[in-house]
Amino acid sequence: MTRHYNFCAGPAALPAPVLERAREELLDYQGRGLSVMEMSHRSPEFVAIAEQAEADLRELLAIPDNYRVLFLQGGASLQFSMVPMNLLGQGGSANFLYTGIWGKKALAEAERLGFPVHLAGTSEPSGHAEVPRPGQIALSADAAYLHYTANETIGGLEFDYIPEVEAPLVCDMSSSILSGPLDVSRFGLIYAGAQKNIGPAGLTLVIVRDDLLDRARAPIPSLFDYRGLAEAGSMVNTPPTFSWYLAGLVFQWLKHDIGGLAAMDAINARKAAKLYAAIDASDLYSNPIAARSRSRMNVPFVLADARLDTLFLDEADAAGLLNLKGHRSVGGMRASLYNAVPEAGVDALIDFMADFERRHG
Ligand code: PMP
Repeated sequence: MTRHYNFCAGPAALPAPVLERAREELLDYQGRGLSVMEMSHRSPEFVAIAEQAEADLRELLAIPDNYRVLFLQGGASLQFSMVPMNLLGQGGSANFLYTGIWGKKALAEAERLGFPVHLAGTSEPSGHAEVPRPGQIALSADAAYLHYTANETIGGLEFDYIPEVEAPLVCDMSSSILSGPLDVSRFGLIYAGAQKNIGPAGLTLVIVRDDLLDRARAPIPSLFDYRGLAEAGSMVNTPPTFSWYLAGLVFQWLKHDIGGLAAMDAINARKAAKLYAAIDASDLYSNPIAARSRSRMNVPFVLADARLDTLFLDEADAAGLLNLKGHRSVGGMRASLYNAVPEAGVDALIDFMADFERRHG
């Protein structure tokens, strides 16, 4: 069996030790004679899995006690509507920073539901090549919160700072959560789809400060209500149990195999730095993002001659470097370097790119 290097933007690579552990436990979870997929979510075994996952996540991110952690469904996209439904019940408008496709979708969804929105800042003038500076962010007087996308997965644009504003900060961290340490206390609410740095698809993480649980616009469906979900331990209905369990294994891997988020941060910094350095040193490859706004997780790049794209992708695939095709809306290439992509994978990609350039550049 060979596991190739997978640069997919999501669902993305999972750590091999996590998959091995899941395989070991697949048919018979810890001597119980059944798999996690076949357990009641209310069984003592699953409740223990769920509680351990939350405890490990809290430890990894040093989540303060006045924050709730929710394990939900619906993807990050459902949070585009759940956030305004839950936070705008007492009036005010949703403020947004627009730095790419995902932030725009979040804004469009709030608008679609009839909520007042305000554009508080954008990277549009730079062609989404540089995040707005703090002085370029201006909230409306009635801002109930400011929403932004920490890392734009398609554009490859990442905030290098946490905005400091009067209103609670709401952040879509789908493609950057757990890539390094984070000061959760700076945020009102953080959400992330699982299928990049957390685990398999089907699970969505929400970390929300207690005082934001009582601002919902009534009535909203009970499955969308943070307060009710928090009180029910994210089990208003059947949660995605197997994804939750696998996320728990990923948290264990981060703690014990990697050594925590500071260690993960150092690895991620090295991985991204060497790939950008290789791109910048080449005549064939280029990345348009300003140095300070470059994403550590998603590295888009184009070839000087787009006629080579298909050959590049075919040869990469044959060399065991998978899923380097850029998002369908922008084309080109994209290498996603999430936590589970090992440094050796980035080294192999850089070697391949140099070799391809020598032969075709
Ligand atoms: N936000 C960001 C930053 C994303 O990268 C994605 C998915 N790629 C989403 C939201 C949407 O996530 P989901 O498919 O889980 O709804």
